[in-house]
Amino acid sequence: MKTMENDREETVKERISFIDIIKYLLKNKNIRYIEPEINELLELRYPVLDFIQSLVKGGVTPYFEKVMSYLQKYTQLQSRMEEEVEDLLRELTTRKILRKVPLGKIVKCPECKSLKILNKYLCPRCSSDNIKHIYIFSHIPCGFTGSSSELKTVNGKTVCPKCNKELKEDEYTIRGDIFICNDCGSTFAQPEIMHTCTKCHRQFTAKDALYEDLYRYEIVVEELNKYEYIVVRDLVGLTLQTHGYSITEPKVRGLSGIEHEFLVVGVKDGKTIAIDFVREDEDADTKLMIVLGKAVDLPMVDIAILVPGKFKLSRPSEVATNVKILRYKYIDEIETVISDYLK
Ligand SMILES: [Zn+2]
Ligand SMILES: [Zn+2]
Ligand SMILES: [Zn+2]
Repeated sequence: MKTMENDREETVKERISFIDIIKYLLKNKNIRYIEPEINELLELRYPVLDFIQSLVKGGVTPYFEKVMSYLQKYTQLQSRMEEEVEDLLRELTTRKILRKVPLGKIVKCPECKSLKILNKYLCPRCSSDNIKHIYIFSHIPCGFTGSSSELKTVNGKTVCPKCNKELKEDEYTIRGDIFICNDCGSTFAQPEIMHTCTKCHRQFTAKDALYEDLYRYEIVVEELNKYEYIVVRDLVGLTLQTHGYSITEPKVRGLSGIEHEFLVVGVKDGKTIAIDFVREDEDADTKLMIVLGKAVDLPMVDIAILVPGKFKLSRPSEVATNVKILRYKYIDEIETVISDYLK
């Protein structure tokens, strides 16, 4: 049978990249959207997700080890990276933390899904790319109607092929435009568009192109906040384990016989530590009162309550001998705050 710690560790590992992004989004609550960007190299990126790379550069916690080895392995394979980002976005969407908002469509290679596409305009009859676009115009003074390709240039001036007079702005009208093939001579309203994938060299037309939706991802703040609890719990649990604590069921029986629930409970050398946390939707003062109540019934347990920086407490911070208030501003300070508390 697996121990709780093992179980916990595995679940945490599975969620590594997921937790990283949750941590990031919780810390940067001003970010409302994850916007797509197609760069000069025609790569579709979600720049917000580049934070993974910046984390790797500073990479200090075990959380990023997986991401780091992953990046080393796939740095050369951009498309693999894109897939991974897509997976992450899909997962966050499934968990309703992100909401997909269609922005439009993009043309991709039907073979390799690349965006790196070259376009050619072809004659629909003979498929030659030797075509030109012309205007049909009428010269009002002489009544000539013909194609712009028949116009002549004399002494730097554009002149009418019939009357040889200069073509002045108010003296001609454009009747329409057309494409003409220089090879077979046929005329047509629109050329056929042929795409060539520069990666796999597949040629394709609009008929077989991969025409995909492009999305922006809107962050669903209420859903994201629900994960704050999970992330904080995992961080606290991991930190306690690092300091040699075993994580138990998050419940402790008090002198009264009542079981009190906490965020995380750890045991080391017979000593029990219980950590609690003020959630997004809770009132910090009320929560503190509840924790104090539990503390009276649990004189043998060391209790700490994590209070996010945005909450103001009306009570003094030294509240009971076995209760400690731990303040933090950002979620990634939790490991340090807990470590300092355990010292
Ligand atoms: Zn032609
Ligand atoms: Zn004329
Ligand atoms: Zn291709």
